[in-house]
Amino acid sequence: MEPFSYTKVSDIRAAIAAGQRGGRFIAGGTTLVDLMRETVERPDSLVDIGPLPLTGTTATPGGGLRIGALVRMADAAADPRVRSAFPVVSEALELSASAQLRTMATIGGNIMQRTRCSYFRDVTANCNKREPGSGCAALEGYNRGHAILGGSDACVATHPSDLAVAFAALEASVHLEGPGGTRTVPFAGFLLRPGSTPDREQALRPGELITAVELPALPRPLRSGYLKVRDRQSYEFALTSAAIALHIQGGVIRAAKVAAGGVGTVPWKLPAVEQHLLGKRPSESLWAEAAQRAADGARPLRHNGFKVALLERTVERQLRVVGGTR
Ligand code: SF4
Repeated sequence: MEPFSYTKVSDIRAAIAAGQRGGRFIAGGTTLVDLMRETVERPDSLVDIGPLPLTGTTATPGGGLRIGALVRMADAAADPRVRSAFPVVSEALELSASAQLRTMATIGGNIMQRTRCSYFRDVTANCNKREPGSGCAALEGYNRGHAILGGSDACVATHPSDLAVAFAALEASVHLEGPGGTRTVPFAGFLLRPGSTPDREQALRPGELITAVELPALPRPLRSGYLKVRDRQSYEFALTSAAIALHIQGGVIRAAKVAAGGVGTVPWKLPAVEQHLLGKRPSESLWAEAAQRAADGARPLRHNGFKVALLERTVERQLRVVGGTR
């Protein structure tokens, strides 16, 4: 680990000012400290935002929820309002990391976490995300866990967050505060695909801070859930996952929100699946037909062709569970 300065702030304006001066925000520290130990991250200055008043969860008109950026993952997962209105969020949280990490890590930090690509974390390997312009060792290396959707010639790393997949499915929004004031960004535009600049991962401006994530008011009744497929049943990242929410009224699907994880460079919304479901009656054949559209546009790498079929099966199985025909 390399030397760095450390400042603790209890005021949002002070945090933003420190961020503008180049300070890196730290809250739970469950990702950043690991990366600093491995010298993957080498910030000169850490700004501890733990004391900021961003720990509340509030209901919004119509049935949405606004979750403060510093709410701990474990607390959000256990919140009865989250559990009852958005089970897909509590399930995604409970299937993330370990109990110890969920007790420390925050909602804002979770969506800011960096990829688990092993070459990114190996400072001897070429990695455009860590060292822009150095190349991508994963393209010709071992890429079983990498993305089949949204990759570029510069980077094919998956986004590791389960929670972000649920946020993408539900079409959440991210509340930000920075030197220019406050603004709200749709979740779909918050995490960036790698393109030619994989080192730039979020649509944040200098000094900007995440203050909350808002789950929208959606038509009710709403059934939702999260399925994660991985090599072992705990403390492992997704090979594929599916976050699904369905509004079924009068026996017909009136709204469908579907996203996949473990397959994209960002949480991957599945509009073709959603469109296929709308206006139809739940049935085994409908789930199978819709799921066949889950991997549209996929470009598998040498070692991860299996993800195409696995993604389709993951989506089909979770449609069956959430749609109630299981
Ligand atoms: Fe780095 Fe991305 Fe290539 Fe992994 S996939 S080595 S993170 S550039």
